[in-house]
Order: sequence, then structure tokens, then C-alpha cells
Amino acid sequence: MLVKEVMTDYFKNYINGKWVDSVSGETFNSINPSDVTEIIGIFPRSGKHDVDLAVKSALPAFVEWKIMSPVERGNIILKAGRIMEERKHELASVISRENGKTIKSALGDVQSGIDMASFIAGEGRRWYGKTSHSALKKRFAMTKRYPIGVVGIITSWNFPMAIACWKTFPALLCGNTVILKSEENTPETAVYFIKILEEAGLPAGVVNLIHGPGPEAGEALVLHPDISMISFTGSSSTGKTIGRNCAGRLAKVSLELGGKNAVIVMDDADLDLAADSVACGAFSLSGQRCTATSRVIIHDSVYDSFMEKLLERVGKLKAGPGTDDTSDVTPLISRRQLDRVLGYIERAQKAGGKIIAGGGQLSGGVYDKGYYISPTIISDVSTEMEISRDEVFGPVLVVFRAGSYEDAVKIHNASPYGLSASLFTKDVNKSFSFFDDAEAGVCYINAPTFGSEPHLPFGGVKSSGIGYRESGWAAIEAFSEVKTLYVDYSAKIQNVQFVEDKKEI
Ligand code: NAD
Repeated sequence: MLVKEVMTDYFKNYINGKWVDSVSGETFNSINPSDVTEIIGIFPRSGKHDVDLAVKSALPAFVEWKIMSPVERGNIILKAGRIMEERKHELASVISRENGKTIKSALGDVQSGIDMASFIAGEGRRWYGKTSHSALKKRFAMTKRYPIGVVGIITSWNFPMAIACWKTFPALLCGNTVILKSEENTPETAVYFIKILEEAGLPAGVVNLIHGPGPEAGEALVLHPDISMISFTGSSSTGKTIGRNCAGRLAKVSLELGGKNAVIVMDDADLDLAADSVACGAFSLSGQRCTATSRVIIHDSVYDSFMEKLLERVGKLKAGPGTDDTSDVTPLISRRQLDRVLGYIERAQKAGGKIIAGGGQLSGGVYDKGYYISPTIISDVSTEMEISRDEVFGPVLVVFRAGSYEDAVKIHNASPYGLSASLFTKDVNKSFSFFDDAEAGVCYINAPTFGSEPHLPFGGVKSSGIGYRESGWAAIEAFSEVKTLYVDYSAKIQNVQFVEDKKEI
């Protein structure tokens, strides 16, 4: 393919309040997934030396930032949220150009960041500890929150603005300084984000940005001895590597990973609502959501009528570039991802799966400028097959039949993942039972498998995550340490081990 440089900009790392090149001077290109011949930016390819510089900036900045009150820190974050609000259309067009999603979807990505800014800024006035009774007389006991230190943040490209905000805002509110490694497919969004924080008044060194490949810049960040915590969003396989590397030096770690999310459609479900939700959950953003619906489990008695409705909706979905706001199924992020998804489809067929919709790459016209796969549905699968177990991260849905609610839950829980799950039913007893029975971190009734809100915790179980929940009050738990504090005002030495017989030592 011919490469064209249309409005190609040169970008830099952001260290100690200055925009700088990588130490090696090496660069990498970012391309537009809606037209892969278009190079949209040239970025510094960073590694260990750049991480060292960022740490040298973030460590001294921590000394001042950590003693600022959380209310003051929250005010800066709130200001950043307001700037994002003013610039949201400009920001959405940057996201759409480098991620390939439509402007409409990109606006949602920005809104999620704005919502996190306003929520977390308010948490600055609720940065609570607890007080407790002591088991001894004349002794006061309480806990108080403290920052952790320098936090390394590594993100995914699929929600480049939202994920950066979900992590960076609470990390800053809690008094940490931050080194953000941008995702290599969406580095310009990170640059834009940092410029907003700079404009909002964040002191130099409090937030730093480095660009570069995961195994180089990302790994150097994870292994750096002065980085106290790593907060990661990405695939489960990278998560395992990061988890091992953090364990090796006992660094705090939070891993938000992949999903194989299922919708269960019961015999009493609103089938139109369920079909709309599955079509949207499985195929919008080409299935490139951690909470995408990648399995649907249908009660036998409504299987045929549900599938008829689903296939009708899927047949009407329009694949197209992010530049066209009427596109339902936008391009895959990269050639690598295209080959990966096509490989999964081919192997599923060889293993006995039946393609009942889509199944291949789209070509001709705008499709030749990006990587598109037609919305694909595969039936006749078992829970043991690769296509039922692995996260594909593309527009691919597998279909199961279930004879009962219990049967459906068993199929649901056969997945190694446990991020989000949804049940369509009108039965209140089954709804509440589902919350108890589903092995997933987020459960919905009569809604798609995505749609989390910033003031509520988000995250998964099993291979979908470990460490802490993201967002909501859980973000405060993740990004702060709790100290336990005692004041003894008895004027003698007391020992809690002797409290039963009231002895003193
Ligand atoms: P990925 O794991 O390939 O990359 C994620 C990030 O990790 C990138 O910034 C990359 O540069 C970095 N990285 C890669 N190797 C590294 C290493 N050895 N050390 C340090 N960093 C390294 O994932 P991806 O393809 O960018 O994103 C898609 C995945 O993200 C999917 O699995 C999706 O489900 C998941 N995701 C999860 C959530 C969630 O909140 N649970 C949200 C969005 C995406």
C-alpha cells in the first residue's frame, strides 16, 4: 500500500513540564485505521532511559503534590474536566482519526472522561478514613489515607480518553504523581489529554507522558524500582506478564483485562430488546470493547424466534469508516488484529462451528482503505472450543442453546473470563439469582453487556482482572494506602493482648 503523509504532525514525550524527544531519537508512526495509508503522527519511541528521566521528574514532584490538600488537587481535575467539555468536539475528532471509531462514539469516550473528572473531584472532599473504638481504655484509633508514590499507567487503545481519565484522575486526586505510557495506536489522544492537564494548572513533573511500544517503554515502566504502583488496562496475556514483573519487585498492581461476555436470553424475555442489545453489544466498535457481547445463550423455546430477529438486525448493520457517523461497524485497529480475528473464524469452522452470518473480510471501496470484517455469528459450538473460550476482540459472536436457566448459567460460567454478563428476563427471582450465580464483575438485567458509569466500580473476576476495581469509590482504594493510627492517652503502657484480664505490662 502507498503511504501518504497528510497533515503529519511530530509529537513528543512530556517530562517535567517540557515536551521532549526520546533519548534515542527514534520514532514510530501512528496511522488512521479508516485510511491506513494515512500517517497521522510521528512519535518518540521511548525506552528505559526515557522512563528514568520521567521518574527523575515524578519523584521530586511527589514531595510537593502529596502535601497539597485533596480538595485543591480535585479543583485542578475539575478544571481539566471543564476544558475537556469546551473542547470535546475537537478531542473527539482526534480520537476518531487515530482509533477509527465514529465522532459520535468518540464523544462518548470524552464524556466518560468528563464524568470521571467531576465525580473524582468531589471525592477530594470525601477522602475519608475511619475512626474506631480501641479495645483498650483511653486509646484513640483511626485510619487515614495517603498517596502511594509514583504510579505508572498503561492503557489500551479502544477507549483512549476514557481509560486514561479513569486511571489518571483518581491517581492524581490521591496525591500520587503519574507516568502515563500512551498506547502505540492512539498516542495523540494522550498528548491532547496531557495538554489539558497542563492548561488546568498541574505543576511540572506531576504528570509525565512517554510514548512507545509495550515491550520497551511499557516494560521499563513496570520494572522501574521507584515506581510504586502499576495500573494496567489491556489483554489478559500482557496482564500476566505485568503481574509477574510487579510481583518480582513487590510493586502494587491493578490489572483490568479482557472479557468473553455473554447475554442470556430467557423464554420470557423481550426478544426485540434482547436482539437490539446483542446486535449493538457484539458489533458496535467492531466488537473492540472489553465488555463486548461475544457469546449469546438462548433458551431453547425462543431460539428460532430470537435468532430470526437477531439476523435481521445484523443484516442491516452498516460497516464503514469512522469519518461516517452512520457507520455501525467501524474498522479493526490494525492488520495484526485483522489476521488474528480471521484466524479465529477459520479455526472455529475447522473445529465444527457453523458460520450463520458474515465470516470474512470486506473489500472494495472504503473497505480497501482499512481492516473490516463483516459481523460474524457462529453456531454449533461447544464451551470447550477455542472460539468459545478466547477473547477474539473483533465482530464475532458465538451462539449457544440452553434448556433451562441453570443450563444457561453453567454455559456462562464455563468461560475463563468474568468481566460483564447480562440476563434478559421478566422474572424478578431469576434476575436476582443471576447476580448471585453469574461469575462476572459487572451484571446487567435487560441491558447490553456494556454501559458502566464512572461513579460505580468496574472490573472483572477470573482472567478478566485482579487487584482493584476501577472507577467509583473503588478507585480511591486502588490509588491510596491506608495507615492505621493510634493515640494512647492513658499515660501508661497498655498491651492489647492482655485486654481480656485487663492486665497491664
Ligand atoms: P495489549 O495487552 O496488547 O496492550 C495494552 C497495553 O500494554 C499497551 O499500551 C501496550 O503497549 C502495553 N504492553 C504490551 N506489552 C507490554 C509489556 N510487556 N509490559 C508493559 N506494557 C506492555 O492490549 P490491547 O490489544 O491494546 O487492548 C485490548 C485488550 O484490552 C483486550 O483484551 C480488552 O479486553 C482489554 N481491555 C480491558 C478493559 C477493562 O477495563 N477490563 C478495557 C479496555 C480494554
